[in-house]
Amino acid sequence: MASHIVGYPRMGPKRELKFALESFWDGKSSAEDLEKVAADLKSSIWKQMAEAGIKHIPSNTFSYYDQVLDTTALLGAVPSRYNWTGGEIGFDTYFSMARGNASVPAMEMTKWFDTNYHFIVPELGPDTKFSYASHKAVNEYKEAKALGIDTVPVLVGPVSYLLLSKHAKGVDKSFSLLSLLGNILTVYKQVIAELKAAGASWIQFDEPTLVLDLDSHQLQAFTAAYSELEPTLSGVNVVIETYFADIPAEAFKTLTSLKGVTGFGFDLVRGAKTLDLIKSGFPSGKYLFAGVVDGRNIWANDLVASISTLGALEGIVGKDKLVVSTSCSLLHTAVDLINETKLDSEIKSWLAFAAQKVVEVNALAKALAGQKDEAFFSANAAAQASRRSSPRVTNAAVQKAASALKGSDHRRATNVSARLDAQQKKLNLPILPTTTIGSFPQTIELRRVRREYKANKISEDEYVKAIKEEISKVVKIQEELDIDVLVHGEPERNDMVEYFGEQLSGFAFTVNGWVQSYGSRCVKPPIIYGDVSRPVAMTVFWSSFAQSLTARPMKGMLTGPVTILNWSFVRNDQPRHETCYQIALAIKDEVEDLEKAGINVIQIDEAALREGLPLRKSEQAFYLDWAVHSFRITNVGVKDTTQIHTHMCYSNFNDIIHSIIDMDADVITIENSRSDEKLLSVFREGVKYGAGIGPGVYDIHSPRIPSTEEIADRINKMLAVLETNILWVNPDCGLKTRKYTEVKPALTNMVAAAKLLRTEL
Ligand code: GLN
Ligand code: ZN
Repeated sequence: MASHIVGYPRMGPKRELKFALESFWDGKSSAEDLEKVAADLKSSIWKQMAEAGIKHIPSNTFSYYDQVLDTTALLGAVPSRYNWTGGEIGFDTYFSMARGNASVPAMEMTKWFDTNYHFIVPELGPDTKFSYASHKAVNEYKEAKALGIDTVPVLVGPVSYLLLSKHAKGVDKSFSLLSLLGNILTVYKQVIAELKAAGASWIQFDEPTLVLDLDSHQLQAFTAAYSELEPTLSGVNVVIETYFADIPAEAFKTLTSLKGVTGFGFDLVRGAKTLDLIKSGFPSGKYLFAGVVDGRNIWANDLVASISTLGALEGIVGKDKLVVSTSCSLLHTAVDLINETKLDSEIKSWLAFAAQKVVEVNALAKALAGQKDEAFFSANAAAQASRRSSPRVTNAAVQKAASALKGSDHRRATNVSARLDAQQKKLNLPILPTTTIGSFPQTIELRRVRREYKANKISEDEYVKAIKEEISKVVKIQEELDIDVLVHGEPERNDMVEYFGEQLSGFAFTVNGWVQSYGSRCVKPPIIYGDVSRPVAMTVFWSSFAQSLTARPMKGMLTGPVTILNWSFVRNDQPRHETCYQIALAIKDEVEDLEKAGINVIQIDEAALREGLPLRKSEQAFYLDWAVHSFRITNVGVKDTTQIHTHMCYSNFNDIIHSIIDMDADVITIENSRSDEKLLSVFREGVKYGAGIGPGVYDIHSPRIPSTEEIADRINKMLAVLETNILWVNPDCGLKTRKYTEVKPALTNMVAAAKLLRTEL
């Protein structure tokens, strides 16, 4: 019984690659230094897998930035603005495409399917010239071979590459990017031939787009591509990997009929229906790479359950054709549990990061081959049992409250226009009211105070004093700027999810559980392991203090349940929506406590609601339904006069605008300025919107200071499509990452623009 790993994290157990990259970019170390760190990381990963006993070890899943960008380099598809003149693509051109340089901006980055990983989007058109311009795949194969390890080189599949590309600037959208297939296959043939010559016996093509809702024309491209590659692929085994969702029946048929392919990989963690497809017909003589170990989460595998799945598959494809694998690349999970010094041993026994998942895959393969590691299996069974019965996981009161929500609708009793009237009587705001999204600049000093408090280096009194001073400063600045609805600035928060997770029960935190988000950037998601509840109020102390400093309305500031869920590692022993409902109930308690404390405006951020949208259309309605319901639960109990705001980042909302309306918030602030007012086009097309809305009037991601005229111009464009009395004036997002020297003039101009327009209306 063989074992296989789809891909492995690159960052290193302590983010070694991150630090090496950033030092190189800062000019503090040489290209050789960077290459040395990379070589060490690669060799330790390969050796680790080899020592664990894995048969099919991947290579070329390492990347200095992103595997799709690596493919762009492989194909020589460098956009002309980077002035690449041919030859092997080096760090200069590569990192210019990834990050931009002094004279040219970077290529666009977008989310890799529904993960938090971002890839660099290829820009293609009829004039794109392709050539074999990066030998990275072959070099990595040889690098591993020199260490005595025969690997499976991994390439982004040609069809997925094209399906994930966009039209280069100026290229007519009617141009079919799939028409470039023949051109890129010429390069794929070259790299395949070189890999074969170097001795590769397997090649893996990742074609994850096969799990999307593809049309027949797109599916045909797979048939065409692999028929064209078939002669070149003869003499080498080929596995095509799919992952992240169930594969649709049509795509399954296309995939399993491809020429020149020896094996097919499926995500059997997210693809329960895929299992049925396999059972109903799998081509004889082909290998099945069964992805039973979850690459998207941090939970230890239920080995008994996996053995039973694998046993059933063995009956279909035969012992020698079944390969035990991960559900997808381990890139999307944390690296190594060994470095978690702060988690207690019980919780640790429930977890498996990438390094531990490699061991699980191997143990499963061995067990199926009749060499079961009894000790490993019984430790796993004990951990599974302790997780099922631990009082830390189950809280009967929370379970009861959450299940009581099922099937019922939660809506505020009064409609939004009547509520807005009641709120206006109380708040007495001018038209085009101004506000900000929550955070103010986080200075080095502020970060130091938080860090020292956490490390017990300063007392609670000193900490509270420092935070109160910061809040007072932020309130004073906003009053001087003459902003209408104030914020306290969030100085006590390191992160909008972690801050709440640390105060809720059911959450655990890692020290090194980093996952790559893009380039050298990583995130460290909290782990939701148990029923969620709120032992004590989380924000009331700071918000009431802030409100006591001013006669203007002070916004209470909370992170919403869907965002907390989507930015965490979520328990897999109950459906996601049940966990979300539990978080919603905890936030509901907080909303009501804020109201009692005299906070009349409460913002519940749902920055990540859009990104949790399932890949397959057939699953989207269900998600949107429980996500929006969870949001409504948080504020269903407040008075009409309490104004509920929400905020969302990223601007592609047009497809979910009806769900946004259904959230029934009183005011929504939403990112808008980077998207050529794409958002406004929905309203131009006649979507009725009665709640307050603040499409961001300037981009906070850039240090640039917008002028009063520019902002006024933006607001005027909004006024052309939205009613005057519902429009709010605010930046795109929080100001946390900006400097005061940028924030003060920008907000001065923002307020001036609002005032200017008020006199004209
Ligand atoms: N209230 C948060 C802030 O202002 C919102 C951040 C976000 O939307 N990502 O920082
Ligand atoms: Zn935002």
